[in-house]
Amino acid sequence: MKNLAPIFSPGSIAVVGASSRPLSVGWETMNSILSYGFTGKVYPVNPKSPEIGGLQAYPSIVDIPDPVDLAVMVVKRDFVLPSMEQCAEKGVKGAIVITAGFREVGGEGVELEERIAKIAADAGMVMVGPNCMGAFNTDPAVRLNATFARFEPKHGPIGFISQSGAMGAQVLDFASEGHYGFSKFISIGNKADIDENDALGVLMADDAVGVIALYLENFADAERFREVCSHASRVKPVIVLKAGRSEAGARAASSHTGALAGSDTAVDALLDSCGAIRIDTVDELLAVSQFFAAPRRPAGDRIAMVTNAGGPGIIATDELERAGFSFPELEAKTVESLKSQLPPEATSANPCDVLPGTGAKGYEIAVEALSKDGNIDTLLVLWTVPKMVKTEWVMEAIEPHCAASPVPVIGLFSGASDVMRDAAPIGTLGIPIFSHAPEVAKALVARRKYRQWLERRPVPPKQFEVDAGRVASLVEKTSEGWMEAADAFAVLDAYGIPIARSLEAGRDDDLAAAATSLNYPLVMKIISPDILHKSDVGGVAVGIEDADQLAAAREEMLAAVGAAQPNAAIEGFLLQEMATGETELIVGIKREPGFGPLVMCGLGGVYVEVLRDVAFSLAPLAGDEPERMLSRLRSAPILRGARGAAGIDIPATAEVIARIGRLVVDHPRIDQLDINPLLAGPDGCIAVDARIRIVK
Ligand code: ADP
Ligand code: MG
Repeated sequence: MKNLAPIFSPGSIAVVGASSRPLSVGWETMNSILSYGFTGKVYPVNPKSPEIGGLQAYPSIVDIPDPVDLAVMVVKRDFVLPSMEQCAEKGVKGAIVITAGFREVGGEGVELEERIAKIAADAGMVMVGPNCMGAFNTDPAVRLNATFARFEPKHGPIGFISQSGAMGAQVLDFASEGHYGFSKFISIGNKADIDENDALGVLMADDAVGVIALYLENFADAERFREVCSHASRVKPVIVLKAGRSEAGARAASSHTGALAGSDTAVDALLDSCGAIRIDTVDELLAVSQFFAAPRRPAGDRIAMVTNAGGPGIIATDELERAGFSFPELEAKTVESLKSQLPPEATSANPCDVLPGTGAKGYEIAVEALSKDGNIDTLLVLWTVPKMVKTEWVMEAIEPHCAASPVPVIGLFSGASDVMRDAAPIGTLGIPIFSHAPEVAKALVARRKYRQWLERRPVPPKQFEVDAGRVASLVEKTSEGWMEAADAFAVLDAYGIPIARSLEAGRDDDLAAAATSLNYPLVMKIISPDILHKSDVGGVAVGIEDADQLAAAREEMLAAVGAAQPNAAIEGFLLQEMATGETELIVGIKREPGFGPLVMCGLGGVYVEVLRDVAFSLAPLAGDEPERMLSRLRSAPILRGARGAAGIDIPATAEVIARIGRLVVDHPRIDQLDINPLLAGPDGCIAVDARIRIVK
């Protein structure tokens, strides 16, 4: 693990490029450090000024008489390299390079960045940036604010790692309006040395950090992230805002799996595999982090709601019920307590509508009673501001009951920005406040997901007997491109995946004679390197009962294929035993550059792209992941057997997914694979169509 102590807890700081000119980065950064009350020594470095901010300035770092732990670089780009050399000479332990103009501008910036990173590495110095917004540590014993953010950070449980400096600034700006407290912040910028994985590892081990919030644009090393974050999220929640949630980057793919995987699928799969919570907006990053840092965690999905407005209450109820939460009946004693204290027009049930006129007193009564109810796991307080009541009054009235509440409390306060500001005292209790019902639902879903992650013990990938040598030679034989059908089936067979018994016959062979080793009914399929989807061109005939039907099907197929695709080269026919499974599934793989192999399962057959009921996961698959993938499908209840229907053999299907997960790890040259369909029934499943693409 990298040592970030020189960054977060230095005893002394040199501000290289400090300036007295207001509004310059050199002054604003210096000013942040001084005005936030850094507890160590500060040495401004500037060859042109003898004194900055009331402190003696030095012409260069080497002129400082005392040891320096941290250099904060705000000099012009061209001075960064010589300054880093001086830091190395001086024995400085860490550097935060705020200065921009490196890798992000390309050309010589790239080279310059490599050179300063090398200086740091050779000198054993940790380096943050370049092109970043600095770092802070609100620990009262340190009080370091080496940033040029507009507002001073408040102390609290959030540890924030931001790739983008500007995004960091935006979050801090936003946080100052509300009630969000941070313990540490680091903006990693170009990640020339310290990247998100280093920072994650450090904040994971830091007791002052209750929850880690992470803003990322790209992963420095996805495999390492998976490893580090799997550990981190067992210790504390990791909330991730990953920019670029769009399909724009998705490349055209010729397999079903490839077509169904957007560029973002791999990110979702990666974050899901290591217990990270993905959210979408800056507001959510803060509010969800706050919720996760709160001392009390919901133990289940039962919610009680107090509201003063019907409409917003209904919207919130709908939203939460859709997300799988319930509003149970309250205990009799709660109802009695509400009835005896609230006016008769109020609803003394769950949701509890105190009506606009009851004001602060109504909220006080309801929050106290509901929070003590034994039937609920979370209390949601809705607040819409009428003219008669001030937000502060309500907050004041409910504050002691929120603080004493045995269950977590969430605020859903809607109105202009003054509502949030006036609600700040509640926020300081660690109560998350949202302004929209869908955000509340998302936060609660995230909490549930995290609870499930913590309950799950890591299960190592399942081990199987497989014939890797046979697959290696089949891969070798194909060299590049799509494998021949028979070879693709052979690959599956070598990895213990059940395949339909089949054989290949030449175009002019006697099919009835060829078929004697198979059991009718048969399926006949065209073999042509030019045909992608056989059934689209009449190239699949099912339910062939005997030799006569076989001969007829042959003529019909040649005619149909000839009409649909006259130029296709016909090599022959695949004769295959008819499988009995009724449910058509798809199992596939796709490699995502920078992430590794994705395994997919879902509803298959010819409508796979229409239904899009698929689940992805990154290989290697944990031992319980195949079942989890199947249970993530929308059609999961049908697969399990709904309304008296038999459902499919889940264990057998999960085993096929697991074996495919193993195949893709063992054979890096298998680039794409579709089993479509895998025909599944109550007793087992069987692959009847398979395509495999090999890359060099
Ligand atoms: P393609 O995907 O190229 O059109 P398939 O081999 O997947 O061709 O066949 C198309 C459809 O025919 C399958 O989705 C399935 O419904 C049916 N089918 C194919 N082979 C079998 C088989 N052995 N047993 C039962 N049904 C089959
Ligand atoms: Mg198919």
